[in-house]
Amino acid sequence: MAKTNMSPSRNVMPTQDAKVRAHNFDEVALGYSEATAIDEAMRCLNCKNMPCVDGCPVKIRIPEFISKIKEGDFEGAYQVITRSSSLPAVCGRVCPQETQCESRCVRGIKGESVGIGRLERFVADWHNTFSTEVPARPVSNGHRVAIVGSGPSGLTCAGDLARKGYEVTVFEALHTAGGVLVYGIPEFRLPKRIVAKEVEALRQLGVKIETNVVIGKTLTVDELFEMGYEAVFIGSGAGLPNFMGIPGESLKGVYSANEFLTRSNLMKAYLDEPQTPIMKGGRVAVVGGGNVAMDAARTALRLGAEKVYIVYRRSMDELPARREEVENAKEEGIEFSLLVSPTEILGYSNPDDRRDPENGFVKGMTCIRMELGEPDERGRRRPVAVEGSEFTIDVDTVIMAIGTSPNPLIKSTTEGLEVNRRGGIVVNEDGLTSRNAVYAGGDAVTGAATVISAMGAGKTAARAIDEALSR
Ligand code: FAD
Ligand code: SF4
Ligand code: SF4
Repeated sequence: MAKTNMSPSRNVMPTQDAKVRAHNFDEVALGYSEATAIDEAMRCLNCKNMPCVDGCPVKIRIPEFISKIKEGDFEGAYQVITRSSSLPAVCGRVCPQETQCESRCVRGIKGESVGIGRLERFVADWHNTFSTEVPARPVSNGHRVAIVGSGPSGLTCAGDLARKGYEVTVFEALHTAGGVLVYGIPEFRLPKRIVAKEVEALRQLGVKIETNVVIGKTLTVDELFEMGYEAVFIGSGAGLPNFMGIPGESLKGVYSANEFLTRSNLMKAYLDEPQTPIMKGGRVAVVGGGNVAMDAARTALRLGAEKVYIVYRRSMDELPARREEVENAKEEGIEFSLLVSPTEILGYSNPDDRRDPENGFVKGMTCIRMELGEPDERGRRRPVAVEGSEFTIDVDTVIMAIGTSPNPLIKSTTEGLEVNRRGGIVVNEDGLTSRNAVYAGGDAVTGAATVISAMGAGKTAARAIDEALSR
């Protein structure tokens, strides 16, 4: 075997050129080749105490899978990863690795950490391209479980139970399975074919997926029990958008990021003949500084906007989006308007002529400059408005990306289901809610979080459901 690669820098991820990719929806990062993956794997010191594993919420045996890559046994590496994670091609792309596994890597002390996420992505893509293995369908154990929502928490819970022989049905409100992985995260970060492949693998295991079923409307949780399901897992996410409550938010041309991204991603608004109306072109302000804001801004650019601003009330140091995505957005030409907060969205209004077709459209946004004051309860310095610093930016579209909350529909139709003051379903350490045999996990419990934490919650609940039903 070749010697350890002691380079302080990780292998560069090849990407599409910024000027080209700003006008297409193809994936930005192109992935490692076999030779690059092996070279990067050689940077791993195979540490005995495995600090990187502590940083992974689902405890993937990182040094073990990287050792397999060093040997050129990519399928072996895939098998190691999938003992702990059911969505490696997704997590290798979108996990915030820099604050998780990679933040604990010892190579990061005197240089850059091993590119663990990039290697995970490589292995998963290799398997999806070259492996022809079809998993055997497990023998049924006769127990039936219903899953609400087909995001990462629901898909993971479904997969873990199906592999143990449970008859699992996933009920999904939208027409496509995948949750935020398909309706939120854009194609240029996570191609839809990757999520479709994971969903197909679950179908091969025997999982039934019923789309266009809204639990709380089409069927209630109680009706699922009447239909013979013995346990229910709620993985309905946090899809209810927050707004600022400033004047002008009901004008035409104001979107929540969720609506904007769903129209673009699921309803293919980028086609020349889209199935849904959406803004294309013009000047766009995206309010917020998280991953969702970056995705909305970069999508607006790809839909043809002339100018896109990120309007964020704190500074770059506090901006919560992944650094890689911020750098990508800057390279593509997104302008960051920092320490700025909107106070009013301005619209064309001509009260004297109610038929004026320009009535009710966004024409600009008034903002105020901010400075950072004392830290808040989470330790982040609180933004404080600078008196008299108002100014107006000329925009035609405003996209609000300031967070989301769990939808109250399931709570309001399920008696005895306890939620906290933020609308998150209250669960114990096994994911069990205040209702017998009803489990929950992912964003529906925590509020907006990460793919890997939702997956971890799906795994925990699957384990607990199995324990309860196999007693
Ligand atoms: P979701 O993925 O939200 O799935 C819930 C599913 O339940 C949806 O399909 C919904 O339609 C369905 N549903 C809701 N109510 C009902 C009902 N009543 N009946 C039936 N079905 C229902 N995380 C990262 O780790 N990295 C990232 O880079 C990242 N980027 C993101 C970008 C965007 C634009 C967004 C919105 C989120 C991003 N996240 C990211 C967060 C991550 O995607 C979520 O934390 C994760 O998807 C939560 O998984 P979940 O299974 O809890 O719910
Ligand atoms: Fe790192 Fe995420 Fe993979 Fe865990 S799942 S090893 S945190 S990239
Ligand atoms: Fe390899 Fe870094 Fe993990 Fe050590 S901490 S085993 S070098 S990935």
